[in-house]
Amino acid sequence: MGTPNAVARDYYGILGVSRGASDDEIKRAYRKLARQYHPDVNPDPEAQEKFKEINAAYEVLSDDQKRQIVDLGGDPLAPGGGGAPGGAGPFVGFQDIMDAFFGGAGGGAGRGPRPRTRPGSDAIIRLELDLNETAFGVEAPITVDTAVLCTTCSGAGTAAGTHPATCDACGGRGEVQSVQRTFLGQVMTARPCTVCSGHGSTIPNPCGTCAGDGRVRTRRSLTVKIPAGVEDGMRIRLAQQGEVGPGGGTPGDLYVEIHERPHDVYSRKGDDLHCRVTVPMTAAALGTRLTIKTLDSEEAVEVKAGTQPGSTLRLRARGVPHLRGTGRGDLYVHLDVRTPTKLDGAQEQILRDFAKSRGEEVAELSKQGGFFSRMRDAFNGHG
Ligand SMILES: [Zn+2]
Ligand SMILES: [Zn+2]
Repeated sequence: MGTPNAVARDYYGILGVSRGASDDEIKRAYRKLARQYHPDVNPDPEAQEKFKEINAAYEVLSDDQKRQIVDLGGDPLAPGGGGAPGGAGPFVGFQDIMDAFFGGAGGGAGRGPRPRTRPGSDAIIRLELDLNETAFGVEAPITVDTAVLCTTCSGAGTAAGTHPATCDACGGRGEVQSVQRTFLGQVMTARPCTVCSGHGSTIPNPCGTCAGDGRVRTRRSLTVKIPAGVEDGMRIRLAQQGEVGPGGGTPGDLYVEIHERPHDVYSRKGDDLHCRVTVPMTAAALGTRLTIKTLDSEEAVEVKAGTQPGSTLRLRARGVPHLRGTGRGDLYVHLDVRTPTKLDGAQEQILRDFAKSRGEEVAELSKQGGFFSRMRDAFNGHG
């Protein structure tokens, strides 16, 4: 076998297995090396060469005919060496590379049956909280409706004393192969078995509680600890409190999404709070003392004489505690100055006298029919 100048490669040595290695040993050795030298994992150009070698060795040793050629001292991949032309092309052993990386468990051609037990999915619930609760934290009782492990069959899905049966349709492989003729020749395709949904087995006597799913839906009550300073829209993750997977698989996580109810007095921006307080014009002019209700208690604050409409008082560290680190946001009190709307005769006179004392001009609107009627008169030339 082989051309005279071709030295047969040591395929057993490349995979590091003995000449008597079983198919399984060869496969294991190949997967291990392929993981180590795959170009996606190992960018070293030498690793690339090594990866090609490993693939070639596996192609040869996993094929009975080619392995026989090797055992007889030949090289099935050498030019004219009696092997298939093309050698270790890019598609050689592709499925096995997939297997090596995606954990397939099947033989040479297939991926094998799909396990019945699969991880569960995550779940999410909304939790409505008041500002006091998001600000200072709370232990909130929640009720979740998720799939949980079926305790009757412990997730197996089978009725007591029974077992799954190998699927007749696929013989337990979980997939059905078919041969199609194309211009490239015969192409083997495999699709999941529809009888067993790819599991390779059926459950002839399903558990009466879960109908074979290994899990049941139920309502559970649990308590979630909400830390101080959470914000609207944040999610708290409770590991493995989500849905149990089919066949009793590991539960997913449960996410609790915080929704903060609007507050009567405060609006929240990050950890700062804002509120509006109305003060009479006279208080704004003369100064006053206000009692502000904070999240914690009540606090007296001073409004300075001559305060303008729209001014803001800042109460440091009276906002929401920071979720990360220490300290708190601030409380901003926005001051609205209210102008009196109904004045009796005496009050009006006082204000007029006050304006006069400051040299401010005040028109006598009430006696002239108001501002707009004066405007009209002015335009009509009656003014
Ligand atoms: Zn089947
Ligand atoms: Zn069950």
